[in-house]
Amino acid sequence: MIDPWSYSDTDEYSHLMDEFGIEVFDPDRLPDPEKQPRLFRQRIVFGHRGFQPVLRRIERGEPFAIMSGLMPSGRMHLGHKMVIDQIRYFQGYGARVFVGVADLESLATRNMPLSRARDLAINSYVRNYLALGIGIEGFEVYFQSLRREVKDLALILGRKVNLSTMRAIYGFTDSTNLGHMYSPLLQAGDILHPQLKLGPIPVVVPVGVDQDPHMRLCRDLSSSFRLFNATETSDGRIGAFVKVDDGVDGLLEKAEGALRELGYLDFKRIPRYKALYVPGASRGDLIAMDEALSKVEVDEGEYGFLPPASTYHRFIKGLTGEKMSSSKPETAIFLDDTPEEGERKMKKAITGGRETAQEQRKKGGRPEVCSVYLTMLYHLVDDDREMERIEAECRAGERLCGGCKKEAIGHLRAFLEGMKEKRDQTEHLLEEFVRDD
Ligand code: SF4
Repeated sequence: MIDPWSYSDTDEYSHLMDEFGIEVFDPDRLPDPEKQPRLFRQRIVFGHRGFQPVLRRIERGEPFAIMSGLMPSGRMHLGHKMVIDQIRYFQGYGARVFVGVADLESLATRNMPLSRARDLAINSYVRNYLALGIGIEGFEVYFQSLRREVKDLALILGRKVNLSTMRAIYGFTDSTNLGHMYSPLLQAGDILHPQLKLGPIPVVVPVGVDQDPHMRLCRDLSSSFRLFNATETSDGRIGAFVKVDDGVDGLLEKAEGALRELGYLDFKRIPRYKALYVPGASRGDLIAMDEALSKVEVDEGEYGFLPPASTYHRFIKGLTGEKMSSSKPETAIFLDDTPEEGERKMKKAITGGRETAQEQRKKGGRPEVCSVYLTMLYHLVDDDREMERIEAECRAGERLCGGCKKEAIGHLRAFLEGMKEKRDQTEHLLEEFVRDD
């Protein structure tokens, strides 16, 4: 079980992928490799659920959306930046972006007053989003506490999940307070509500793997509100299947009409199986079929939610070796740290170096466990060849940690100075990003 509120094990990725059915994220399938963030190139984003419909939209130049949450529990640090790097990339392909400030969740799980959450969200997060180059077109930040559709949807979604399921997913016990238990439904409301505004549309949610329980719940909930299922049967036939018991004949008729518009001519309708087989369709057609059926559902007055997709990134190790955390300032570089603060933290950061310089020259260092190396790789050095050189020199014992830290500090100071400058330049845009509805 992964607990999204306290998960900290960062090294068990392949186990998690096997255990929970997370698929490998392959950036080679995305267009324009030169535009990809280093998180993709370096396989720091390593997994996904249901990303294929989003990929299809990117390839076809069609609309899709990104949803991200912002838990205002402290200042924004480099770990949080990983999501923004992805958002900026997807924005380049025309994605609509929704960022929900989880102020209600923060109140329920961390006792954070709404006013404090608002202040943190705007001044520590949104200011930095702007400085990181998020475009204002099609981007909105909203507050859970103020967006009525999200709260209403959370309540409606709650009809399809019971306590034992919530316990199995999250490990809730008899002493878990009800506000905390309700917060995953709020998250599901956040993730699905763009489809209330835009109609059925692929939505991708970039998250750390600790958030996977929310994604599994949300995908199950989206599916439980559907009238149709487009799938391949165990004997290899492709078809649309009605999931409800009432009005089956009429729904099959409408499904056939919608699929005919996709160009299929041949159908085999079997009402007693609630099935519409499409002999001319293949597995690769299922995404388009599902999208067409979801529109039929909206015409029927239903939601027609497409299952949200997710990408999963590795955690960045904190400078002290534990998880980077806003509540432990020494573990993290905050985006509004001064260059001097950043330098002081980096000087103290743990490395993958050996006890003595002599031993390091002989055995080489271990960049894979070095927070200095990983900070450069994830955030500070965009040149892949430079990082390959640093890694090779480290492993060969040609590089010692003192000099290496000095180099990293140079990059860090330039980054933090750049952030300050860009925050000052973009501050006037703040109000345009934040929505109070
Ligand atoms: Fe890390 Fe650099 Fe030391 Fe290698 S030489 S362990 S990369 S600080």
